[in-house]
Amino acid sequence: MKSRKVIITVAPTGNIPTKELNPHTPITPREIVEDVERCYQAGASIAHLHARDGEGRPTTNREVFLEILEGITSSLPVITQVSTGARGGEQEDRGAPLDLNFEMASLSTGSSNFTDRVNANSPELIEYLAGKMHKQGIVPEIEVFDAAMVGNALYYLKKGVLKEPLHFNLVMHVPGSIQGTPKNLLYLRELLPPGATFTVTGIGSSHVAMITMGVLLGGHVRVGLEDVLTVKDREATNELLVLQAVNIIEMLGHQVADPHQAREILF
Ligand code: MG
Repeated sequence: MKSRKVIITVAPTGNIPTKELNPHTPITPREIVEDVERCYQAGASIAHLHARDGEGRPTTNREVFLEILEGITSSLPVITQVSTGARGGEQEDRGAPLDLNFEMASLSTGSSNFTDRVNANSPELIEYLAGKMHKQGIVPEIEVFDAAMVGNALYYLKKGVLKEPLHFNLVMHVPGSIQGTPKNLLYLRELLPPGATFTVTGIGSSHVAMITMGVLLGGHVRVGLEDVLTVKDREATNELLVLQAVNIIEMLGHQVADPHQAREILF
């Protein structure tokens, strides 16, 4: 197997984790920036970002995102990626942070269920968010929670809403969406068009198996407390999850990409 550079994305906060669920969850902009710095030192090149208000609740407030964005880009070469996920609220809210100077943004190209709600991404919303990203020069990461979302991304490519090269995030094992099994991941991988790049996210108990298989299949990996709260039954930290991914990547004979190399691979 040919050795290559593998990109680690860290998703430090998400919308669900709290200090009660895991005391290491970064909540304030300052905590998020400091955690991203630790993760960068450990090997992460991309930060997938959500924000919280003063009460710790999910927010798409531009000012909060701006504080996080500036905190990261003022001192770190890390690629910033903002979430436009379904838990962010209505269309305008989900698109609000796209006015800022992020390099990437998540874009789900279809709907599924999350545990407690619909992961709703209507055709109108997808075109709205993709259009805004295109106008701002923000690179979409296509979030795939189920197989139809790959086919739908290809539809939007044909329609001109998305541009090549496509970059996917295969999100495995969200309750209500595709299960994180090797067969399912292999199937999604085989649906991707030639020339596409992809990262793999494994939620909860599927985490290590899915990211390991992602590397074996030629992909990149996402880790972080947004996706998994424990390592070997202990409270995880974002840094520990990045270091675990570094180990997996190196044990499989590859190297971890730095942010400069990640930009060359993705953009
Ligand atoms: Mg997210």
